[in-house]
Amino acid sequence: MSSLLTSAVISELREIVGEKSLITAPAQLQTYECDGLTAFRTPPLAVLLPESTEQVQKILRLCHRERIPFVARGSGTGLSGGALPSEGSVVISLSRMNRILNIDIPNQQITVQPGVINSNVTAAVAAQGYFYAPDPSSQTVCSIGGNIAENAGGAHCLKYGFTVTHILEMTVVLPNGDLVKMGGKTLDAPGYDLSGVFIGSEGTLGVATEATLRIMRRPETIQVILAAFDSISAAAQSVSDVIASRQLPAAMEIMDRLSIEAAEVSVHPNYPVCEALLLIELDGPEAEVNLQMDAVTDICRKNGASETRLAVDEKARLLVWKGRKAAFAAAGRLSPNYIVQDGVIPRTSLPVVLEKLNSMAAAEGLRVTNVFHAGDGNLHPIVLYNRDNLGEEEKAIDLSLRILDVCVEAGGSITGEHGVGREKQCSMSYMFADPDLETMQKVRRAFDPLNLANPEKIFPTPRLCGERSRGAYVAHPLEASGIAEIF
Ligand SMILES: Cc1cc2nc3c(=O)[nH]c(=O)nc-3n(C[C@H](O)[C@H](O)[C@H](O)COP(=O)(O)OP(=O)(O)OC[C@H]3O[C@@H](n4cnc5c(N)ncnc54)[C@H](O)[C@@H]3O)c2cc1C
Repeated sequence: MSSLLTSAVISELREIVGEKSLITAPAQLQTYECDGLTAFRTPPLAVLLPESTEQVQKILRLCHRERIPFVARGSGTGLSGGALPSEGSVVISLSRMNRILNIDIPNQQITVQPGVINSNVTAAVAAQGYFYAPDPSSQTVCSIGGNIAENAGGAHCLKYGFTVTHILEMTVVLPNGDLVKMGGKTLDAPGYDLSGVFIGSEGTLGVATEATLRIMRRPETIQVILAAFDSISAAAQSVSDVIASRQLPAAMEIMDRLSIEAAEVSVHPNYPVCEALLLIELDGPEAEVNLQMDAVTDICRKNGASETRLAVDEKARLLVWKGRKAAFAAAGRLSPNYIVQDGVIPRTSLPVVLEKLNSMAAAEGLRVTNVFHAGDGNLHPIVLYNRDNLGEEEKAIDLSLRILDVCVEAGGSITGEHGVGREKQCSMSYMFADPDLETMQKVRRAFDPLNLANPEKIFPTPRLCGERSRGAYVAHPLEASGIAEIF
């Protein structure tokens, strides 16, 4: 245990949150040693489960005084190791701050604590005809705090935008314990756009303890079409053609054969049997949706769709999405372990890039299945592997990082919505030049000069990136002789 977490400090923490909200037993700490990216694990020194903004403030003041690093945690569903504890840190789990504080229908907003589960926001306003648009596939478990930190997206972000478009105001505790309000309940607040800086900062600038979210009126009509294709390329071409035809669907998602099969066994959505399935959702006034549906169906048929099927009613539509949203979890039926990658490419490069990924995987003797937000060009290749096979985990990690290089080379990005976390920090310098990274660091240091908030994330560090360089690591002769060490 770190010398920083003395028994006196533990007593102070216990006083702040109470006996039942402080975890120090090694067996219980194991629950918090990783997030959804299970390939990386570090047990925290302790876990705190505050129930109020005041408690979070007191914890951060104490961490600041004692120089203890801390990692905020929502539901731990992150896929890039964002909530992974750093060496010698404490975890602040926000899961007990899960109350809806205010619903303001006339102003189309809702105020929540950070531990509120994403789908509970829509559930709270559905009866009044409203919904919360950002819908990560993990929406039944992930938290609003985690969504803010990752600027989470989802199937419907093609039309409605990512989390950043839907946050009006936030209460944030800074790493020194100070409290700030970011944004405002009305639009276009004066001053710097601090919300824009905080959203997507992956827990490195402080802890969000309250947020006011924009809710939207449910569209008059929602329709989903399933189009079955003999190849991913034909499905991808249809996506480009739909956008080029000036339609803006609410969602356009592609699943390949392996993902379809896994989802089928898992939640029985009764998908057509095919190599690639394109799901297109259209919403808006009924007359407009009917016209658009004819147009997109035509495009799919022209690209060789072997079947186009309309989800007949609300129940069928929800089942279509349940299958798609279960796809990551269902990958567990294909392989004991997997890494869900998250990169972005220009939509028009989809066929070429997917082809390349498949041949890279084949060369490594690994399988990759694809299910992704095709409308955004947001790829989620799932690299399947078995940790029990010697060297296979390393091979899978290496392949998943090389996939990002391909995305950058195609003019895309190393992450769409899952963040950089621990997983992709060594890919950051592939995408950004030194002045870009240093400017980001200046922002981080302005909020957190002591580097206590989720350290060792996002930014490449010589130690971590040296250890995980591309290809086998070759020790410097001084290091090999024991004279010098790489930090
Ligand atoms: C099956 C599955 C499907 C997924 N599908 C999607 C998808 O479609 N779209 C998508 O965007 N993501 C998706 N994800 C990834 C993940 O669910 C999202 O990134 C989500 O936003 C993480 O929320 P969480 O509450 O689990 O956060 P955590 O995993 O607990 O934390 C994520 C990051 O947020 C920080 N954090 C958490 N709470 C706070 C807070 N209150 N203040 C400051 N920082 C905080 C943490 O330090 C960490 O860096 C998926 C994950 C899984 C397992």
